[in-house]
Amino acid sequence: MRLSPDPEQLDLHAAFRKLADEAVAPLAARHDHEERIDRALIDLLAAEGCLAPLVPEELGGRGLDAISYGLLHEEIGRACSSTRSLLTVHDMVADTVRRWGSAEQRAAWLPRLVSGAAIAAFALSEPEAGSDAAAVSTAAEQVPGGWELTGTKRWISFGQLADVYLVFARTARGLSALLVERGTPGLEMVPITGMLGTRGAMLAELRFDRCRLPADALVGPEGRAHPYITVSALTLGRYSVACGSIGIVQGCLDAATEHAARRGVGQHQLVQRLIADMVVSARAGRLLALRAGELIGAGGPDAPMAATEAKYFAGIAAADAARDAVQVLGATGCSADSPVARYYRDAKVMEVIEGSNEISQTMIGRFGHATRTGWRG
Ligand SMILES: Cc1cc2nc3c(=O)[nH]c(=O)nc-3n(C[C@H](O)[C@H](O)[C@H](O)COP(=O)(O)OP(=O)(O)OC[C@H]3O[C@@H](n4cnc5c(N)ncnc54)[C@H](O)[C@@H]3O)c2cc1C
Repeated sequence: MRLSPDPEQLDLHAAFRKLADEAVAPLAARHDHEERIDRALIDLLAAEGCLAPLVPEELGGRGLDAISYGLLHEEIGRACSSTRSLLTVHDMVADTVRRWGSAEQRAAWLPRLVSGAAIAAFALSEPEAGSDAAAVSTAAEQVPGGWELTGTKRWISFGQLADVYLVFARTARGLSALLVERGTPGLEMVPITGMLGTRGAMLAELRFDRCRLPADALVGPEGRAHPYITVSALTLGRYSVACGSIGIVQGCLDAATEHAARRGVGQHQLVQRLIADMVVSARAGRLLALRAGELIGAGGPDAPMAATEAKYFAGIAAADAARDAVQVLGATGCSADSPVARYYRDAKVMEVIEGSNEISQTMIGRFGHATRTGWRG
């Protein structure tokens, strides 16, 4: 197991940090207030190679390695969780098309997802199905020439903006994944506003009423979307959220130490304790994320659990750090334009999405007997 990214990855990290500081962080409060993402920023991120960067060069992408990918998501997450959410769901769909899509689907979608010509959203959750993917009731029936999709998806990040949705639906053989283009007759998109955190993530409810899809809308083998596609996509999503959560911890640490020094409260041991926990969380979270990134890059069977462990730790660490950063900043931390107030709301979301704390605990605990926790594990 590595204890640090390599020098080339650290150079990339510095470039990602500069991009996040200069282009993303200045827009974060506006994204939060206006509940939308600046379109020009999305175009800039695409031009900088931040959309679907794992797509290999031969398929039109930049072929970024998984560890550098995590460093990108840490920096974007530190600057703006809503923007990081866009990268997360967009990349989950691009990665699914890359892994499971047909040659035609790859050729049709990957260049557009890399260039930002198309934005993608990931539609698994429903009004009555969240943690339990087996409870999905949206159904796609095979009809002459394609599929007919009926049901409702809820809490879909960037559902308001996406050009294409990866929709999970029951078919005759089990759970299947289908690509649905924006504007398909029978699809109604209803914006969801007023969320607690990641308020710029442009959530939507998607209502499908006998929505007709072509036969080639199906991604991967019919009936096998769970566990194959759900596990590979959620592994990437959890890794992204883990890294974004570490970004939140770092942002809280930066704000708390700056304020503590300026206000003179850093001399108090009880304040030092809050800052100490942020320092240790950031270091421990980075090590867990580094391990997950290494295993994701290697494509080994331990990657999904490593991503779950990293997300579980980092999500809680972010929520704790944000609560403590508000405490260190006092009234300033409670004020409308305080970045730590936004971190506080965004960090809570990290404990719910991509596998809640409790789902992570049950997954990690259930397989605990088979988990090697030594240095070679
Ligand atoms: C800001 C935001 C963005 C989102 N974006 C997307 C998106 O882009 N695409 C998408 O598909 N979904 C999205 N979601 C939905 C998200 O994936 C779900 O909220 C999450 O899976 C939890 O499901 P739920 O909200 O239905 O809660 P439930 O599954 O109803 O769970 C409620 C509570 O019960 C606990 N619980 C449930 N089952 C168990 C169990 N077996 N053991 C112990 N405890 C349990 C949970 O931990 C939780 O605390 C988003 C949600 C939010 C808040």
